[in-house]
Amino acid sequence: MPTRLVVPNEISPGERRIALEPGVAKKLSATGMSIAMQQGAALSSYFKDEDFSDVETVADAATLYKNADLVFKVQPPTVEELNQMPDGCTVIGFMAPNKNIDMMKLMCDKKITSLAMELVPRITRAQSMDALSSQASIAGYMGVLMGAQLASVFFPMLTTAAGTIRPAKVLIIGVGVAGLQAIATAKRLGAIVEAYDVRSATREQVESLGGKFVDTGVSAEGEGGYARELTDDEKQQQQDVLAKHIALADVIISTAAIPGRPSPKIITEAMVENMKTGAVIVDLASEGGGNCELTKPGETFEYKDRVTIHGPLNVAAELPIHASEMYAKNLFNLVSPFIAEGGNLELDFEDDVIAGCVLTRDGAIVHQQYRNN
Ligand code: NAD
Repeated sequence: MPTRLVVPNEISPGERRIALEPGVAKKLSATGMSIAMQQGAALSSYFKDEDFSDVETVADAATLYKNADLVFKVQPPTVEELNQMPDGCTVIGFMAPNKNIDMMKLMCDKKITSLAMELVPRITRAQSMDALSSQASIAGYMGVLMGAQLASVFFPMLTTAAGTIRPAKVLIIGVGVAGLQAIATAKRLGAIVEAYDVRSATREQVESLGGKFVDTGVSAEGEGGYARELTDDEKQQQQDVLAKHIALADVIISTAAIPGRPSPKIITEAMVENMKTGAVIVDLASEGGGNCELTKPGETFEYKDRVTIHGPLNVAAELPIHASEMYAKNLFNLVSPFIAEGGNLELDFEDDVIAGCVLTRDGAIVHQQYRNN
């Protein structure tokens, strides 16, 4: 029997992405899978129902879910959505397990198999399935555009009849996937770019993109290529060096994160106090509370009428066409090796990637990180 894949409208406020796009729908239906989408579900990403050939449209979510074997989502399923899904189905999407204990309990009660996109192991073979990376690179790009829009200066150097304009100084804090894309984007806009990360391996990456690495002498490589939390002494050392660069920046894009922990507070109020009048901070770490201690997640405000502090949330949703395309391709690359003849999905739970991202299965939380929650 072919697996019936269903793709609902994303109901989370402000979520403009969708977990399927026409190209991926075509490839999946070519495998024999049967696909249904909620009517108009992709309109917020500017895809019309008729762009999806071989996909049935269903007017409401309750009817859509009724015969689902497999559900593709962007945001974690809500309790209401899970209650509409059949017992024993499979759901794939971002799950934010730390914040969604009720969701996990209900998925166990309903024996739902869930795969969390944020838990896909970051191994070379899984790069094409890595939704954290695809969406973070969008955030890095958008963060710079937001910074450019809020800035009170040009990014590029300009020679005009009214004189020469100096290029903007942009400081990127945190050089993971989002930070690297931010460096590349700010360089393309003509800014002078400095960047800083606690992982020393990033120096070469910053320099290869034409940025200048800020060396604070603090190195904090953690497990799996991520950063670890800094000690108090390391934080002080970091702040002493960074403060000088922060004071000279026209725009700061901060992206620093530690998996499973609140965003590290790197930009203090005293540092903001010393920033140039008209400077901007775009705090892309707002989801985890922000890298600036003044950031108000989800808000934009002017600190003492001098420095704009922008704390955007769910930034990838602001570029919905490409964000949906990249995300849907990540989902396709995750499941396609397991689609058997006739379009039936047969996940192999011994496979490294599947084993790494399965959250609930057979009535239990099986991911080791969340098992005892
Ligand atoms: P992330 O979103 O967890 O963090 C962003 C950056 O913040 C990281 O570079 C981190 O080092 C930095 N950071 C943390 N604390 C900091 C502090 N106090 N000061 C300054 N910077 C700080 O990172 P990410 O974008 O998810 O990437 C994390 C790692 O995973 C990187 O090494 C990346 O190359 C790697 N990665 C590997 C693969 C793969 O092999 N498939 C895919 C994607 C990412």
